Amino acid sequence: MNPYLCDMDFPFPQRKIIHVDMDAFYASVEQLDDPSLRGKAIAVGGGHRGVVAAASYEARKFGVRSAMPSKTARERCPHLIFVKPRFARYKEISSKIRSIFHEYTDLVEPLSLDEAYLDVTENKKDIESANDIAREIRKRIFEETGLTASAGISVNKFLAKVASDINKPNGQKTIHPTKIDEFLENLPIEKFYGVGKVTANRMHTLHIFKGSDLKAKSLDELEKLFGKSGRYYYNVVRGIHNGEVKPNRIQKSVAVERTFWDDIKEDEEIDQKLKSLSLELEERLGKKEIKGKTLTLKIKYQDFTLYTRSKTQESYFENAEKFYNTAKQLWELRPFDKAIRLLGLSLSNLNTEEKKQVSVQLKIPFAEFDD
Ligand SMILES: [Mg+2]
Repeated sequence: MNPYLCDMDFPFPQRKIIHVDMDAFYASVEQLDDPSLRGKAIAVGGGHRGVVAAASYEARKFGVRSAMPSKTARERCPHLIFVKPRFARYKEISSKIRSIFHEYTDLVEPLSLDEAYLDVTENKKDIESANDIAREIRKRIFEETGLTASAGISVNKFLAKVASDINKPNGQKTIHPTKIDEFLENLPIEKFYGVGKVTANRMHTLHIFKGSDLKAKSLDELEKLFGKSGRYYYNVVRGIHNGEVKPNRIQKSVAVERTFWDDIKEDEEIDQKLKSLSLELEERLGKKEIKGKTLTLKIKYQDFTLYTRSKTQESYFENAEKFYNTAKQLWELRPFDKAIRLLGLSLSNLNTEEKKQVSVQLKIPFAEFDD
Protein backbone atom coordinates (compact mmCIF):
# COMPACT_ATOMS: atom_id res chain seq x y z
CA MET A 1 0.00 0.00 0.00
CA ASN A 2 1.28 3.43 -0.91
CA PRO A 3 2.15 5.03 2.46
CA TYR A 4 1.26 8.50 1.21
CA LEU A 5 -2.29 7.44 0.50
CA CYS A 6 -2.74 6.47 4.14
CA ASP A 7 -1.73 9.97 5.07
CA MET A 8 -4.20 11.97 7.14
CA ASP A 9 -4.37 14.51 4.33
CA PHE A 10 -5.81 11.99 1.96
CA PRO A 11 -9.60 12.03 1.93
CA PHE A 12 -11.00 8.84 3.31
CA PRO A 13 -12.73 6.74 2.04
CA GLN A 14 -10.66 6.49 -1.10
CA ARG A 15 -12.24 7.93 -4.25
CA LYS A 16 -12.97 5.99 -7.40
CA ILE A 17 -12.22 8.20 -10.37
CA ILE A 18 -12.63 7.39 -14.06
CA HIS A 19 -11.16 9.42 -16.89
CA VAL A 20 -12.99 8.75 -20.14
CA ASP A 21 -11.33 9.87 -23.36
CA MET A 22 -12.77 9.39 -26.83
CA ASP A 23 -10.33 7.93 -29.35
CA ALA A 24 -9.19 10.45 -32.00
CA PHE A 25 -12.58 12.06 -31.51
CA TYR A 26 -13.02 14.58 -34.34
CA ALA A 27 -11.32 12.30 -36.85
CA SER A 28 -13.38 9.30 -35.73
CA VAL A 29 -16.62 11.28 -36.09
CA GLU A 30 -15.66 12.20 -39.66
CA GLN A 31 -14.87 8.58 -40.48
CA LEU A 32 -18.13 7.50 -38.89
CA ASP A 33 -20.24 9.93 -40.91
CA ASP A 34 -18.38 9.47 -44.20
CA PRO A 35 -17.58 5.80 -44.86
CA SER A 36 -15.24 6.77 -47.72
CA LEU A 37 -12.84 8.17 -45.08
CA ARG A 38 -12.69 4.97 -43.07
CA GLY A 39 -9.32 3.25 -42.89
CA LYS A 40 -7.66 6.34 -44.34
CA ALA A 41 -5.14 8.83 -43.03
CA ILE A 42 -7.22 11.92 -42.31
CA ALA A 43 -6.67 15.13 -40.42
CA VAL A 44 -9.40 17.41 -39.18
CA GLY A 45 -8.50 21.07 -39.48
CA GLY A 46 -5.94 22.29 -41.90
CA GLY A 47 -6.36 24.93 -44.53
CA HIS A 48 -3.13 26.23 -46.01
CA ARG A 49 -1.74 27.80 -42.88
CA GLY A 50 -3.78 25.94 -40.32
CA VAL A 51 -2.96 23.24 -37.83
CA VAL A 52 -4.20 19.71 -37.33
CA ALA A 53 -7.02 19.58 -34.77
CA ALA A 54 -7.21 15.80 -34.78
CA ALA A 55 -5.61 12.97 -36.72
CA SER A 56 -6.99 9.50 -37.43
CA TYR A 57 -4.95 6.55 -36.20
CA GLU A 58 -4.02 5.80 -39.80
CA ALA A 59 -2.47 9.29 -40.02
CA ARG A 60 -0.75 8.94 -36.64
CA LYS A 61 1.23 6.01 -38.03
CA PHE A 62 2.97 8.57 -40.22
CA GLY A 63 3.72 10.84 -37.31
CA VAL A 64 0.83 13.23 -37.83
CA ARG A 65 -0.23 14.73 -34.47
CA SER A 66 -2.77 17.24 -33.27
CA ALA A 67 -1.54 20.85 -32.98
CA MET A 68 0.96 20.14 -35.77
CA PRO A 69 1.09 22.67 -38.62
CA SER A 70 -0.77 21.32 -41.64
CA LYS A 71 2.31 21.78 -43.77
CA THR A 72 4.40 19.50 -41.55
CA ALA A 73 1.57 16.98 -41.47
CA ARG A 74 1.43 16.85 -45.27
CA GLU A 75 5.20 16.42 -45.47
CA ARG A 76 5.03 13.44 -43.14
CA CYS A 77 2.01 11.94 -44.82
CA PRO A 78 1.64 13.09 -48.47
CA HIS A 79 -1.65 11.23 -48.99
CA LEU A 80 -3.21 12.83 -45.89
CA ILE A 81 -6.84 13.88 -46.43
CA PHE A 82 -7.82 17.15 -44.76
CA VAL A 83 -11.39 17.43 -43.52
CA LYS A 84 -13.12 20.60 -42.33
CA PRO A 85 -14.17 20.46 -38.69
CA ARG A 86 -17.90 20.34 -37.90
CA PHE A 87 -18.12 21.46 -34.31
CA ALA A 88 -21.91 21.37 -34.14
CA ARG A 89 -21.76 17.65 -34.90
CA TYR A 90 -19.01 17.04 -32.31
CA LYS A 91 -21.04 18.89 -29.70
CA GLU A 92 -24.11 16.83 -30.51
CA ILE A 93 -22.22 13.58 -29.93
CA SER A 94 -20.49 15.03 -26.89
CA SER A 95 -23.81 15.77 -25.22
CA LYS A 96 -24.98 12.22 -25.95
CA ILE A 97 -21.86 10.91 -24.24
CA ARG A 98 -22.37 13.22 -21.27
CA SER A 99 -25.89 12.03 -20.74
CA ILE A 100 -24.54 8.47 -20.54
CA PHE A 101 -22.07 9.64 -17.84
CA HIS A 102 -24.91 11.20 -15.89
CA GLU A 103 -26.73 7.89 -15.71
CA TYR A 104 -23.91 6.82 -13.41
CA THR A 105 -22.97 9.98 -11.54
CA ASP A 106 -23.56 13.71 -11.52
CA LEU A 107 -19.95 14.30 -10.52
CA VAL A 108 -18.82 14.74 -14.11
CA GLU A 109 -16.11 17.24 -14.99
CA PRO A 110 -15.69 17.70 -18.74
CA LEU A 111 -12.18 18.69 -19.87
CA SER A 112 -13.22 19.18 -23.47
CA LEU A 113 -15.81 17.81 -25.87
CA ASP A 114 -14.19 14.40 -25.79
CA GLU A 115 -12.94 13.76 -22.29
CA ALA A 116 -14.22 13.96 -18.76
CA TYR A 117 -13.50 12.91 -15.21
CA LEU A 118 -16.18 10.99 -13.34
CA ASP A 119 -16.27 10.42 -9.62
CA VAL A 120 -18.09 7.10 -9.20
CA THR A 121 -17.24 6.48 -5.54
CA GLU A 122 -20.96 6.65 -4.99
CA ASN A 123 -22.85 5.99 -8.18
CA LYS A 124 -26.49 5.90 -9.19
CA LYS A 125 -26.33 2.22 -10.14
CA ASP A 126 -24.60 1.07 -6.97
CA ILE A 127 -21.90 -0.70 -8.90
CA GLU A 128 -18.99 -1.57 -6.64
CA SER A 129 -16.23 -1.80 -9.24
CA ALA A 130 -15.18 1.37 -11.05
CA ASN A 131 -13.56 -0.91 -13.59
CA ASP A 132 -16.96 -2.44 -14.40
CA ILE A 133 -18.51 1.01 -14.68
CA ALA A 134 -15.85 2.13 -17.13
CA ARG A 135 -16.36 -0.97 -19.24
CA GLU A 136 -20.13 -0.45 -19.24
CA ILE A 137 -19.82 3.23 -20.15
CA ARG A 138 -17.47 2.48 -23.05
CA LYS A 139 -19.86 -0.19 -24.31
CA ARG A 140 -22.80 2.22 -24.08
CA ILE A 141 -20.87 4.94 -25.91
CA PHE A 142 -20.08 2.52 -28.70
CA GLU A 143 -23.65 1.28 -28.97
CA GLU A 144 -25.12 4.76 -29.04
CA THR A 145 -22.58 6.62 -31.15
CA GLY A 146 -20.57 4.00 -33.01
CA LEU A 147 -17.39 5.50 -31.56
CA THR A 148 -14.79 4.02 -29.24
CA ALA A 149 -13.51 5.48 -26.01
CA SER A 150 -10.68 4.63 -23.64
CA ALA A 151 -10.71 4.91 -19.88
CA GLY A 152 -8.36 5.17 -16.94
CA ILE A 153 -9.46 4.19 -13.46
CA SER A 154 -7.78 4.99 -10.17
CA VAL A 155 -8.02 6.90 -6.89
CA ASN A 156 -7.51 10.44 -8.21
CA LYS A 157 -7.77 12.53 -11.36
CA PHE A 158 -4.05 12.53 -12.10
CA LEU A 159 -3.73 8.75 -12.03
CA ALA A 160 -6.97 8.21 -13.96
CA LYS A 161 -5.84 10.63 -16.66
CA VAL A 162 -2.45 8.97 -17.04
CA ALA A 163 -4.07 5.54 -17.05
CA SER A 164 -6.53 6.30 -19.85
CA ASP A 165 -3.61 6.66 -22.25
CA ILE A 166 -2.09 3.27 -21.49
CA ASN A 167 -4.40 0.98 -23.43
CA LYS A 168 -5.60 3.46 -26.01
CA PRO A 169 -7.42 3.09 -28.38
CA ASN A 170 -10.54 1.23 -27.26
CA GLY A 171 -9.07 0.00 -24.00
CA GLN A 172 -8.96 0.73 -20.33
CA LYS A 173 -6.47 0.53 -17.51
CA THR A 174 -6.95 0.41 -13.77
CA ILE A 175 -4.22 1.47 -11.41
CA HIS A 176 -5.00 -0.20 -8.11
CA PRO A 177 -3.93 1.55 -4.92
CA THR A 178 -1.43 -1.23 -4.23
CA LYS A 179 0.19 -0.77 -7.64
CA ILE A 180 0.50 3.01 -7.72
CA ASP A 181 4.13 3.24 -6.60
CA GLU A 182 5.36 0.62 -8.99
CA PHE A 183 3.39 2.09 -11.85
CA LEU A 184 4.63 5.64 -11.36
CA GLU A 185 8.25 4.67 -10.73
CA ASN A 186 8.38 2.96 -14.10
CA LEU A 187 6.40 5.57 -15.99
CA PRO A 188 8.40 7.57 -18.57
CA ILE A 189 8.49 11.19 -17.53
CA GLU A 190 6.79 12.44 -20.70
CA LYS A 191 3.72 10.35 -19.80
CA PHE A 192 3.13 12.28 -16.58
CA TYR A 193 0.11 14.52 -16.99
CA GLY A 194 1.30 18.09 -16.53
CA VAL A 195 4.75 17.45 -17.97
CA GLY A 196 4.76 19.05 -21.40
CA LYS A 197 7.28 18.61 -24.15
CA VAL A 198 9.51 21.45 -22.96
CA THR A 199 9.57 20.25 -19.35
CA ALA A 200 10.18 16.67 -20.45
CA ASN A 201 13.23 17.78 -22.45
CA ARG A 202 14.45 19.78 -19.50
CA MET A 203 14.02 16.78 -17.23
CA HIS A 204 15.93 14.58 -19.67
CA THR A 205 18.91 16.91 -19.49
CA LEU A 206 18.71 16.53 -15.69
CA HIS A 207 18.76 12.72 -16.14
CA ILE A 208 15.15 12.39 -15.10
CA PHE A 209 13.74 9.79 -17.46
CA LYS A 210 11.12 8.00 -15.42
CA GLY A 211 9.18 8.30 -12.19
CA SER A 212 11.88 6.77 -9.99
CA ASP A 213 14.37 9.43 -11.17
CA LEU A 214 11.88 12.15 -10.33
CA LYS A 215 11.10 10.59 -6.96
CA ALA A 216 14.78 10.73 -6.04
CA LYS A 217 14.69 14.55 -6.11
CA SER A 218 13.85 16.43 -2.95
CA LEU A 219 10.99 18.93 -2.80
CA ASP A 220 13.53 21.69 -2.35
CA GLU A 221 15.43 20.70 -5.43
CA LEU A 222 12.31 20.42 -7.55
CA GLU A 223 11.06 23.81 -6.43
CA LYS A 224 14.39 25.35 -7.30
CA LEU A 225 14.34 23.73 -10.73
CA PHE A 226 10.67 24.12 -11.65
CA GLY A 227 9.27 26.86 -9.44
CA LYS A 228 5.64 26.39 -8.46
CA SER A 229 5.31 23.22 -10.51
CA GLY A 230 8.01 21.61 -8.36
CA ARG A 231 5.58 20.70 -5.63
CA TYR A 232 3.11 19.29 -8.15
CA TYR A 233 5.78 16.96 -9.59
CA TYR A 234 6.91 16.01 -6.10
CA ASN A 235 3.35 15.08 -5.15
CA VAL A 236 2.11 13.34 -8.26
CA VAL A 237 5.10 11.02 -8.50
CA ARG A 238 4.01 9.83 -5.05
CA GLY A 239 0.44 9.36 -6.28
CA ILE A 240 -0.79 12.41 -4.37
CA HIS A 241 -3.35 14.57 -6.11
CA ASN A 242 -6.37 15.71 -4.17
CA GLY A 243 -8.21 17.76 -6.79
CA GLU A 244 -11.92 16.99 -6.69
CA VAL A 245 -14.09 16.23 -9.70
CA LYS A 246 -15.90 19.53 -10.19
CA PRO A 247 -19.05 19.49 -12.27
CA ASN A 248 -19.45 22.62 -14.44
CA ARG A 249 -22.67 24.10 -13.27
CA ILE A 250 -24.44 26.42 -15.65
CA GLN A 251 -25.09 29.76 -14.05
CA LYS A 252 -28.79 30.55 -14.30
CA SER A 253 -28.99 34.04 -12.87
CA VAL A 254 -27.01 36.92 -11.47
CA ALA A 255 -28.53 38.84 -8.59
CA VAL A 256 -27.78 41.85 -6.45
CA GLU A 257 -29.84 42.91 -3.47
CA ARG A 258 -29.76 45.25 -0.57
CA THR A 259 -31.36 44.97 2.87
CA PHE A 260 -31.85 48.36 4.46
CA TRP A 261 -30.89 49.29 7.96
CA ASP A 262 -34.07 51.33 8.22
CA ASP A 263 -37.07 50.42 6.10
CA ILE A 264 -37.58 52.84 3.22
CA LYS A 265 -40.72 54.29 1.73
CA GLU A 266 -39.94 57.58 0.00
CA ASP A 267 -40.05 57.51 -3.81
CA GLU A 268 -36.83 59.41 -4.11
CA GLU A 269 -34.96 57.04 -1.86
CA ILE A 270 -36.28 54.01 -3.71
CA ASP A 271 -35.33 55.59 -7.00
CA GLN A 272 -31.79 56.03 -5.71
CA LYS A 273 -31.60 52.40 -4.58
CA LEU A 274 -32.83 51.13 -7.94
CA LYS A 275 -30.17 53.22 -9.63
CA SER A 276 -27.35 51.90 -7.48
CA LEU A 277 -28.57 48.31 -7.78
CA SER A 278 -28.63 48.72 -11.58
CA LEU A 279 -25.05 49.92 -11.57
CA GLU A 280 -23.98 47.12 -9.29
CA LEU A 281 -25.65 44.54 -11.52
CA GLU A 282 -23.96 45.99 -14.57
CA GLU A 283 -20.61 45.72 -12.86
CA ARG A 284 -21.20 42.13 -11.79
CA LEU A 285 -22.14 41.13 -15.34
CA GLY A 286 -19.39 43.06 -17.02
CA LYS A 287 -16.70 41.12 -15.28
CA LYS A 288 -18.09 37.83 -16.53
CA GLU A 289 -19.41 38.96 -19.93
CA ILE A 290 -22.84 37.68 -19.04
CA LYS A 291 -26.02 39.02 -20.63
CA GLY A 292 -29.63 38.20 -19.90
CA LYS A 293 -33.12 38.68 -21.31
CA THR A 294 -35.17 38.57 -18.12
CA LEU A 295 -34.93 41.19 -15.41
CA THR A 296 -36.59 40.56 -12.07
CA LEU A 297 -37.32 43.08 -9.35
CA LYS A 298 -37.60 41.69 -5.86
CA ILE A 299 -39.36 43.59 -3.11
CA LYS A 300 -39.47 42.51 0.50
CA TYR A 301 -41.85 44.53 2.64
CA GLN A 302 -41.50 45.50 6.26
CA ASP A 303 -43.77 42.57 7.23
CA PHE A 304 -41.51 40.17 5.25
CA THR A 305 -44.01 39.60 2.45
CA LEU A 306 -42.08 39.05 -0.73
CA TYR A 307 -42.97 40.00 -4.31
CA THR A 308 -41.09 39.56 -7.52
CA ARG A 309 -41.96 40.96 -10.90
CA SER A 310 -40.16 40.16 -14.13
CA LYS A 311 -39.86 41.46 -17.62
CA THR A 312 -38.54 39.38 -20.46
CA GLN A 313 -37.54 40.90 -23.76
CA GLU A 314 -36.39 39.51 -27.08
CA SER A 315 -32.95 41.06 -26.94
CA TYR A 316 -30.45 41.17 -24.10
CA PHE A 317 -30.62 43.89 -21.48
CA GLU A 318 -27.43 45.77 -22.13
CA ASN A 319 -26.53 48.20 -19.40
CA ALA A 320 -27.37 49.83 -16.10
CA GLU A 321 -29.65 52.36 -17.79
CA LYS A 322 -31.79 49.59 -19.30
CA PHE A 323 -31.89 47.76 -15.97
CA TYR A 324 -32.92 50.95 -14.21
CA ASN A 325 -35.65 51.91 -16.69
CA THR A 326 -37.13 48.43 -16.56
CA ALA A 327 -36.83 48.23 -12.79
CA LYS A 328 -38.80 51.50 -12.60
CA GLN A 329 -41.57 50.05 -14.78
CA LEU A 330 -41.70 46.95 -12.61
CA TRP A 331 -41.72 49.10 -9.50
CA GLU A 332 -44.81 50.91 -10.76
CA LEU A 333 -46.63 47.55 -10.77
CA ARG A 334 -46.00 46.88 -7.08
CA PRO A 335 -49.06 45.63 -5.22
CA PHE A 336 -48.63 47.63 -2.02
CA ASP A 337 -47.31 50.92 -0.80
CA LYS A 338 -45.78 49.69 2.40
CA ALA A 339 -42.32 50.31 3.82
CA ILE A 340 -39.62 48.17 2.27
CA ARG A 341 -36.79 46.30 3.92
CA LEU A 342 -35.13 44.79 0.86
CA LEU A 343 -34.81 45.51 -2.84
CA GLY A 344 -33.13 43.25 -5.35
CA LEU A 345 -32.51 42.97 -9.07
CA SER A 346 -31.63 39.82 -10.90
CA LEU A 347 -30.99 38.90 -14.47
CA SER A 348 -31.81 35.47 -15.85
CA ASN A 349 -32.36 33.85 -19.22
CA LEU A 350 -28.64 34.23 -19.65
CA ASN A 351 -26.46 33.87 -22.70
CA THR A 352 -24.59 31.17 -20.75
CA GLU A 353 -27.59 28.85 -20.69
CA GLU A 354 -28.54 26.14 -23.10
CA LYS A 355 -30.61 27.40 -26.03
CA LYS A 356 -33.42 25.08 -25.03
CA GLN A 357 -33.91 26.73 -21.66
CA VAL A 358 -33.85 30.20 -23.16
CA SER A 359 -36.66 29.49 -25.60
CA VAL A 360 -38.85 28.09 -22.83
CA GLN A 361 -38.37 31.17 -20.71
CA LEU A 362 -39.05 33.55 -23.57
CA LYS A 363 -42.72 32.63 -23.23
CA ILE A 364 -42.90 34.50 -19.92
CA PRO A 365 -45.31 37.41 -20.40
CA PHE A 366 -44.35 41.05 -20.04
CA ALA A 367 -44.93 41.55 -16.34
CA GLU A 368 -45.04 38.27 -14.61
CA PHE A 369 -46.41 38.26 -11.14
CA ASP A 370 -45.21 35.53 -8.86
CA ASP A 371 -43.97 34.99 -5.40
MG1 LIG B 1 -9.46 12.09 -27.00
